[in-house]
Amino acid sequence: TDAYLEAMAKARVLNAYVVETPEQARAMAAASDARIAKSEAGALEGIPLGIKDLFATKGVHTQAASHVLDGFKPPYESTVTSNLWRDGAVMLGKLNMDEFAMGSSNETSYYGNVINPWRRRNSNAALVPGGSSGGSASAVAAHICAGATATDTGGSIRQPAAFTGTVGIKPTYGRCSRWGVVAFASSLDQAGPIARDVRDAAILLKSMASVDAKDTTSVDHPVPDYEAVIGKPIKGLRVGIPREYRVDGTPAEIDALWDKSAKWLKEQGAEIVEISLPHTKYALPAYYIVAPAEASSNLARYDGVRYGLRVPGDDIVSMYENTRAAGFGREVQRRVMIGTYVLSAGYYDAYYVRAQKVRTLIKQDFDKAWDKVDVVLTPATPSPAFAPGEITDPVQMYLNDIFTVTVNMAGLPGISVPGGLSEQGLPMGLQLIGKPFDEATLFQVGHAIE
Ligand code: GLN
Repeated sequence: TDAYLEAMAKARVLNAYVVETPEQARAMAAASDARIAKSEAGALEGIPLGIKDLFATKGVHTQAASHVLDGFKPPYESTVTSNLWRDGAVMLGKLNMDEFAMGSSNETSYYGNVINPWRRRNSNAALVPGGSSGGSASAVAAHICAGATATDTGGSIRQPAAFTGTVGIKPTYGRCSRWGVVAFASSLDQAGPIARDVRDAAILLKSMASVDAKDTTSVDHPVPDYEAVIGKPIKGLRVGIPREYRVDGTPAEIDALWDKSAKWLKEQGAEIVEISLPHTKYALPAYYIVAPAEASSNLARYDGVRYGLRVPGDDIVSMYENTRAAGFGREVQRRVMIGTYVLSAGYYDAYYVRAQKVRTLIKQDFDKAWDKVDVVLTPATPSPAFAPGEITDPVQMYLNDIFTVTVNMAGLPGISVPGGLSEQGLPMGLQLIGKPFDEATLFQVGHAIE
């Protein structure tokens, strides 16, 4: 813990932590030492972790990287972090992120953008760590935590993991409790770990996952010993290659990595099967209707009365307006406006209902694929990390999620593992998509690739 606290202080230029909690960390580490001395060590005893600012941590600032939650200290602890503390983990601090987890580059944070520790070959120019869990990914890559919590609504665990050469898994919807996780789009949000390798991710997810009476969408499904599958041979496993994931404009090196990784798996005895997921191309537009719709509803609670910031006005309505105008950043305001529009009478059927139908079709594509394959292999992102300020058009930014959003729309588990380096020396990630509640196979195959 002391070593990590020291490293954190030296790496503040990354802007990965928004709150450091050294006193709490030392107290938790001391309690760990005491348990170890009594031979009562938990599965994560003494392991120092960073926590995404989206998780409520009792008495510790939790702002979802938003101005509107200024000074909010929850009087409760999220279920996921409670599970980690139960197993002996130590909290180092809260990690930066895109505001309310909306973004793919960590440039929408009220606290300013996060820097990726990686650089292009022969360049010292800063790069984004991806988003929205950019603080988590950057901190893991820079060794300023041993692992981190993150969340994924459309790719926010997998894309930053791909951009930083780390491992990130979004478990099946319902695997981890959402209780105490600030809501973005409730039917898509899932918590998961970002870690240095597949084994660490497996150990962390085992601890984070649980059924929880406080989240009725969490599912009572046994959590296997994920670590036990690491190193298990993949001979005979059927790996699907969906042809719809070959999209125009993807750099040749990403497609080449994808082909190469299929070959690695084949060499280890897996069977490579070409499959079709015909509704893939509708996933991104449908996601950018469903997610903002749910966000506009979830973010209605930030009204200047219940939490954080209050900007006074002449009457209560102008107080609401002033608070929300000052408290939300531009991307969050854009989402609230899109969401309100697609849910409004007259547009609801044309946009929202239709997007939900598309969602069902996407899920059915996968249901059919599972007759033929055990796991699906795709690239994690359509490019390696880019520079801050490089993408200014929001729709261009949304295209970053092209390979990841289908997984959230279908509620499936997806992992990103580092596959290799680009010509410019940047990490590129591969994504494995699994059957519902079959995270174990993702760890097994992920380890065969890493
Ligand atoms: N980049 C996507 C968005 O901005 C996904 C975010 C996420 O997964 N939290 O909505």
